[in-house]
Amino acid sequence: MAVKLAERKSSVYLDDGANVGAANGYGTSKVARFAADANHGTHSSDDAEAGIPRRDDIAIGVLAVQGAFIEHEHALSELGANVVELRQASDITEDLAGLVLPGGESTAQSLLLRDLGMLEPLRALITSGIPVLATCAGMILLATDVEGGGKPCFGTIPMTVLRNAYGRQLDSFHTNARLEGLADEPITAPMTFIRAPYVKEVGEGVEVLARVDGNIVAVRYGNQIALSFHPELDRSRTVHTAFVNLTKKYMETR
Ligand code: GLN
Repeated sequence: MAVKLAERKSSVYLDDGANVGAANGYGTSKVARFAADANHGTHSSDDAEAGIPRRDDIAIGVLAVQGAFIEHEHALSELGANVVELRQASDITEDLAGLVLPGGESTAQSLLLRDLGMLEPLRALITSGIPVLATCAGMILLATDVEGGGKPCFGTIPMTVLRNAYGRQLDSFHTNARLEGLADEPITAPMTFIRAPYVKEVGEGVEVLARVDGNIVAVRYGNQIALSFHPELDRSRTVHTAFVNLTKKYMETR
């Protein structure tokens, strides 16, 4: 049963791009480095102080031009991952272990990515096979076909998404639904939807991981995971844990 979520809205990313400047303007540091919990490491904190990279010292790039990126950073840092904010083209490097495309406003994000010269380098990174976790607006950026206004951006997952698919009457809601393919076994995951898209159609090779009311809300295509909902806003860390594990596996094999 869906619960309406009027109070949970965060002005950071729900103003359809009006807060782009505000969201982009916090802090001055390009790199938000969250020290990994010593328990996760295989080296002592002395090593870290001496600048010796830890074996699990992975850095996940979080697109930070607009939207709800901070919540992803917190979720990943809780799990011991280091996070690099991607705010301009020079922040995009080949040694990234993963990429997070946060929720927000997909049209504003698309325009900023083009203006900042980040679109092509990010697309190259995605098509090279880097693990990607895309939520809500991020899902829209990955789709090859977009309905409901807006144009395709990266177009790296063959699927058609419908923007603002739940309409104005039920623009935010919370529910629990079966989510496959991320934990060892299918789980019941909390899902928070905010002006969410859903997937109308998937192309070949796209796995459907979850449906709500028959509509596709989570997919995986190779290393790209795209969700209509916002796992970073719930307490469960199942999705982020699976993603961090994917980045570790990716770093081992490349
Ligand atoms: N409605 C937004 C869009 O179309 C997505 C909302 C979200 O990311 N929470 O871009």
